[in-house]
Parts: sequence; structure tokens; C-alpha cells
Amino acid sequence: MPEMRLFDTLSREIRELKPREGDTYRFYCCGPTVYGPAHIGNFRTFVLQDVFRRTLEICGLKTFHVRNLTDVDDKTIRDSQAAGKTLTDFTEYWTKKFHKDCDSLNNLPPHKEPSAVGHIPQQVAMIEELVEKGHAYRSDDGSVYFSVSSFPTYGKLSRLDQRELKTGASGAITDDEYEKDSVADFALWKGRREEDGENYWESPWGQGRPGWHLECSAMCREYLGESFDLHSGGVDLVFPHHENEIAQSEACTGASMADHWFHTTHLLVDGGKMSKSAKNFYTLADIEKAGFTASELRYVLISAHYRQPLNFVARDAEGNESFPALQGARQALQRIAKFEKSLKDAAGETPEFSYEDAISLTDRGSFEDAIQALADDLNTPEAFGRIFSAMKAIKPGDLKPEEALREWKGLHTALEAMGIELPAEEEKSEAPPEIAEKAEQRWKAKQDKDWATADRLRDEVLEAGWEIKDTKEGYELCSKN
Ligand code: AMP
Ligand code: ZN
Repeated sequence: MPEMRLFDTLSREIRELKPREGDTYRFYCCGPTVYGPAHIGNFRTFVLQDVFRRTLEICGLKTFHVRNLTDVDDKTIRDSQAAGKTLTDFTEYWTKKFHKDCDSLNNLPPHKEPSAVGHIPQQVAMIEELVEKGHAYRSDDGSVYFSVSSFPTYGKLSRLDQRELKTGASGAITDDEYEKDSVADFALWKGRREEDGENYWESPWGQGRPGWHLECSAMCREYLGESFDLHSGGVDLVFPHHENEIAQSEACTGASMADHWFHTTHLLVDGGKMSKSAKNFYTLADIEKAGFTASELRYVLISAHYRQPLNFVARDAEGNESFPALQGARQALQRIAKFEKSLKDAAGETPEFSYEDAISLTDRGSFEDAIQALADDLNTPEAFGRIFSAMKAIKPGDLKPEEALREWKGLHTALEAMGIELPAEEEKSEAPPEIAEKAEQRWKAKQDKDWATADRLRDEVLEAGWEIKDTKEGYELCSKN
């Protein structure tokens, strides 16, 4: 079995991943803030974390994967109030949507998914310890702050200059309305304010709510102990979130928090940052509405190395929202599916093959190289490249059935490691004229950028049991039955 190696943000080195204890690799991923749909950038991070876990398991380790839900913060409170819902009802709604998207994208569920609201006592206890040890202080408004100057190694993850921190000259830290001794100090507990409404808890410092950074430190400690194997998130979390987590946890326990820090680079859309005002903010629902599948999106999201930015090309050269990136993924998946079928035919008979089968398979034939690429700093583009090279080298028609079966299992294992599901074989049949007419009208509406009509017609066609799939040349109609 290959050893897995990964770049570590703290040491800035590629290091082997070895569990601290036994054969179970125990890691924490910062989860979503559940106040709206997760966007495809968030999913770049969550899908890569899933490929990371699958690779560890296929390399022979067991895993214990904890991912939290941020269900109380400024945004969840603000938007639940705007929606006229209780915080719980509001965050439960978005949590369900998040789980559904994760399922569609074929992400394995974490072993534990704790929420901030479910762990208030643990957070209060941690703040008490920090106050007792002289790392935190209460301010006049009932908030409690972490004193950055009490933790000399503050800044070690992001390599921030301490002097800059004290003066705030880096511009990296923005002061908020709470009262604190130093601009770098951050809130562990936020004293209740009017705009919080009924969203507050009792504490030794008065009513209020925990700070976002503290939530993760407390949940890491609860489920993974003082020290664990790896901590992960998108690159925007390095500072201040993860820096603050390290300060809180290590000041509290005196132990090193995590052995390894894994950060994924951001997804860009058409070369820019995703934002609602730029109209380039996509969710999985948007992608599916445009006629693409979650599997095609997953393919795009892992098509670049996690340490490189990934530019999701949504618009073609003419500015049409035709999703060239997803078109490319569709073609690639169809190529793999065609090859898979020819191996299957050559094997004669193939068994059911699950993720568990992939984990226990030791002979991966020509597809071992693809697994090696994943084990070597999670090189997903290289793994795809090696799958295509193996496909070129193998002539299924020349193989004996047992050889074809061996390669078929190897291919499925490489696909399972990346969580890629192949498109099902489609039954192409003639659509009735009224459906074909609607599809044609939808195509025209799309050309005219009349998205509302295009979406409505697509939904009507879908309801009648037909799916419109956009292709390079135009579109095709596929029966859902
Ligand atoms: P949030 O729901 O904002 O707390 O973010 C959830 C996860 O998505 C975090 O790990 C973020 O770092 C990550 N993330 C946010 N934006 C992007 C992006 N554009 N590309 C990749 N990851 C992102
Ligand atoms: Zn976190």
C-alpha cells in the first residue's frame, strides 16, 4: 500500500501522514456556515477533503472524520431574523440542503458532525480555563477576549509578524465594535447585543454567545482530544480562523493541536472571485438547472491540484453561459464510461463493486499509478492523466476475461478513490413532438438570454419525463424512464 504524503501549511513541507495512534487517522474539517446554500467554491473544499479521506482509506488507513456545522454567528442570526424564523429552524433548513448537495456530489458523510449550538457548555468551559490561565479577559460589554500577547507563538501558521499584529499595520485585522485591549485580540464570547434577539446563552460573564473560532477549538477537543492528526479548511481560514484556533487550544491544553494542516486553494469563476453581484455565484442547484450533473461538477472541482487556484469557466468566448468546463467533464466521463463498458464486456461477468471492495482491493493492475498520484500530495489532475494513459495502453479486446476483470476492478478503485460516478448508459429514444417542440423553444429562449422562460420550459420537459442535456453542438433529449 502506498504511504500518503501531503503538503503541511505549518511546516511548509510535504510530509508523510502517519496516525498518532493505531491505524486510525483522525482529522477535523471546518464545516459550512448554514445560512444559505453552499456554493461551488465551498464544494471545491469539501469535495477535496472527501478525496483526501478516500485516498487515506484506499491506502489502508482507517479514518475518523469530524466536520462541524457553524449554526450560530453574525450571519446566521441576521438572516434567520430577516427570514422571520427561529435560528434553529433556519439553520436546520440549510443543513438539510447542505447534506443533500453533499450526497449528490458523492461525499462520504463525516463520522461526527457536531454543531456549535449543541456544544455551548464545552465552549464556556474552555473560555473559563483560558481566563483562569491568564490568556483571556472580560471587557465592559460582557464579551471575553483572547489576549494575543499572552501567546508568544501567535502567527506561526500564517507567519504573521507579531509587531504588525500589535499595531494593526498589516491591515489583516479589522477591529469590530466590541471593546478590547489590543486590535489583535479576538472574541471568545460575545456579550449579548440588541440585534441578537433571543439568540443568547447564559455564562459566567453574562448573556451572550460563543465566538466562531472558539467553536472549532471546543469541538476538536471534545471529539479528537488535545492533539490529533490533521486540521483542514479552505485557504481563507489560515488567518485568522486557524491561527486563533491554535492559540485557544494550545494556550488551554499546553499540547500541540494538530500534526498537519491541510488547506485548499480557492475556486475562481471566469477568472474572478465569486459574488452575488458579479452574477457568478453558482450553487449545485444552478448547475443542475443548466442541465449538468453533480458528478460532472465533481469532476471539474477536482480537475486541478488543490494547491493551485481552479478557474471554473462558466461563460464561453462569446459570453454565453454555456459552461465549457462542465461540457469538458461530460466528454471525459463519457470516454471513461465507454472504456469501462468495453472492459466489462471483455470480462464477461462482473460482480457488484462497492467502495468497501475498493478499500480491500490490493491488486489494482494498470490503475495503481493513478492511486500513487493521489497518495503523492493528492495530485488529482495527475491521477486523471494516468487513468487516461492506462486507458490508451489497454486494448480490452485483446485481454483474457480474468485480465479484463482485474483492470475493471482497478479502474473502479481509482474512480472510487476520487468519488467519481460514471454516467449510466442512456436509452436514446425519440421524444414525442410536443416535448421536442418545447425543448426547441427552450433552446431559443436560452439564445435570447431569457433565462426564466428557458428554466420554466426545462422544468416542464423534465416533469414529462425527459431531460434536456446541453452539448457542444446544442442539446439532446434523454428519456428519464
Ligand atoms: P463557510 O461556509 O463560509 O464557512 O465555508 C466553508 C468552507 O468553504 C471553508 O473551508 C472555506 O474556506 C471554503 N471556501 C469558501 N470559499 C471558497 C472558494 N471560493 N473556493 C474554495 N473553498 C472555499
Ligand atoms: Zn473552524
